[in-house]
Amino acid sequence: MSTFQDLGLNQDLLQAISDLGFTTPSEVQEKAIPILLNEEQDLVALAQTGTGKTAAFGFPMLQQIDINSRTTQGLILSPTRELCLQITNEMKLYGKYCKGLNVVAIYGGASITEQANQIKKGAQVVVATPGRMKDMIRRKLVDISKIQYSVLDEADEMLNMGFYEDITDILSHTPKDKSTWLFSATMPKEVAKIAKDFMHSPIEIVVGNRNESTSQVSHEYYLVNGRDRYLALKRLADAHPEIFSVVFCRTKRDTQKVAEKLIEDGYSAGALHGDLSQNQRDLVMKAFRNKQIQMLVATDVAARGIDVDDITHVINYQLPDEIETYTHRSGRTGRAGKTGISMVIVAKSELRKIKSIERIIKKEFEQKDIPSGMEICQ
Ligand code: ADP
Ligand code: MG
Repeated sequence: MSTFQDLGLNQDLLQAISDLGFTTPSEVQEKAIPILLNEEQDLVALAQTGTGKTAAFGFPMLQQIDINSRTTQGLILSPTRELCLQITNEMKLYGKYCKGLNVVAIYGGASITEQANQIKKGAQVVVATPGRMKDMIRRKLVDISKIQYSVLDEADEMLNMGFYEDITDILSHTPKDKSTWLFSATMPKEVAKIAKDFMHSPIEIVVGNRNESTSQVSHEYYLVNGRDRYLALKRLADAHPEIFSVVFCRTKRDTQKVAEKLIEDGYSAGALHGDLSQNQRDLVMKAFRNKQIQMLVATDVAARGIDVDDITHVINYQLPDEIETYTHRSGRTGRAGKTGISMVIVAKSELRKIKSIERIIKKEFEQKDIPSGMEICQ
């Protein structure tokens, strides 16, 4: 097994890595870092959530940019504001001994003037959501014409969310001779197309199996009458007093309703969805991260890319419309080698979906009974 030193990282980064308590590189880091330290090599890396992708592109980027220059040299695109802030924080931690490093986050829902001011001070690295980035380029508030390293993080999710055109527009403002590093959990057609159209003979690395969910997650389903979903959720929460969980609903309305009911019924819960203001979303994420909230009730879009450690359970209050989304949901738990449980509350009419999911994740669900109150089970 190699060490971070073997991978060719410099002293400033090794010191930060040691402060972070990372002892050995994860598989994707071991494979990607030596490739990315090689100038002008494009890369496609397929690895599941929680495999350490941020450091896999973050370290090589920080090692190669010129910190003495104030020019923007690295651009990281990611699907959501939450993820954007998370990557920015991680990059700052990785680069804490890189004196003069400035990493700026650009995302919608916050003041564009404030973000533009930060850029003006000189940011070597910009972490952005595609929508706001495109807007800032159009208004000439950011200059990415000297980018040397561009990262497409969670590429499949960005494309799922309909960012194809924004991404291609942004890339058209960057130099042709930059390096492009694409990270994704899965390789749907759209991702392959981006790789083909915008990258120069990329090396492809795969960690684990394509499209397979993390092995540390076990999957359970609970069969209930559709109208008893909420009761089932409460019973599951009662049976796991230490639960630290994301509860997924299909719509913003259901998300809000379930969170409100849980709070009314004395549970520790909060809602996260797109109808909330940025400030409300930041507050609820902060409370969840600090474990002041045990159950974060969320829509898929709002919960994308959330990296909160120690999530014990993912609860599918309702199954997603797109079966592939299930993998992203269950990937919120069982991160960084920990174990997790993904639970599905399901009505008889949806059992077919469970079968389809089993085929995708290549794992079987365990059917379990709601812990008490057999009358709500079929
Ligand atoms: P991904 O982007 O693949 O979902 P992240 O980069 O968010 O994964 O990393 C997941 C978690 O693992 C983070 O909390 C991160 O700090 C931690 N981590 C990353 N690399 C290592 C490592 N080599 N050793 C220990 N922990 C690590
Ligand atoms: Mg990530």
